[in-house]
Amino acid sequence: MHKDMLIVEDEPAIRRLLMGALDRTGLTYGEASTAAEALRLAAIQPHPLLALLDLGLPDRDGLEIIPQLVEAGLAVIVLTARDATDEKVAALDLGADDFVTKPFDSAELLARIRSALRRKTGSRADPQRRAFEGGTIDREAHAVTIGGGAVALTPREFDLFWALCEKPGRVLTHRTLLETVWGVAHRDDVDYLRVAIRALRKKVEADPSRPKLIINEPGVGYRLAGSTPRVA
Ligand code: CA
Repeated sequence: MHKDMLIVEDEPAIRRLLMGALDRTGLTYGEASTAAEALRLAAIQPHPLLALLDLGLPDRDGLEIIPQLVEAGLAVIVLTARDATDEKVAALDLGADDFVTKPFDSAELLARIRSALRRKTGSRADPQRRAFEGGTIDREAHAVTIGGGAVALTPREFDLFWALCEKPGRVLTHRTLLETVWGVAHRDDVDYLRVAIRALRKKVEADPSRPKLIINEPGVGYRLAGSTPRVA
């Protein structure tokens, strides 16, 4: 039987908390307490859309199975400890969609789930056009409008903004953005990114000193603020 989601967590207390939060949404879920069980459930067709993945599993490091879950068609949200910045970066670089920090806040967890599910099911949207809070970006026309007016971006700023708008709400790591916009040779030049983000914010944020659109995830990357999330 099809489940919307898969909970992969070996600690029964945390699993109960996750289930408690999900039971209020109407989303269905399967449960796994090992990596092996997670991969087995992820392979059942039609596969779940999303996995909530604990990284400390008894049989394998959860990081190791992220590529397989993504390959099977699932969006992955990892559950990590507060200070585990390296782990968050590694998970995102391996293809995870997002992360939630333990101890997690139910409202935040559900918002991230809605956002990931929306990205997963929203791929029928026009692939060349995205809306964000207050405006639109059109890749084919290379045009950005805010409040109905055109905004001029340099090609680099445009590519950076498109990368963020293409996956609203998803955290993109510094490395991912650098590889996408500047190329693999510059994957570690975080200063390039900082300078470009600053310039971009001056053009697209109402108040660049208090950004509401391009959100910083300290030590990890950036995300475009998600817009009007709804449960699928
Ligand atoms: Ca664990």
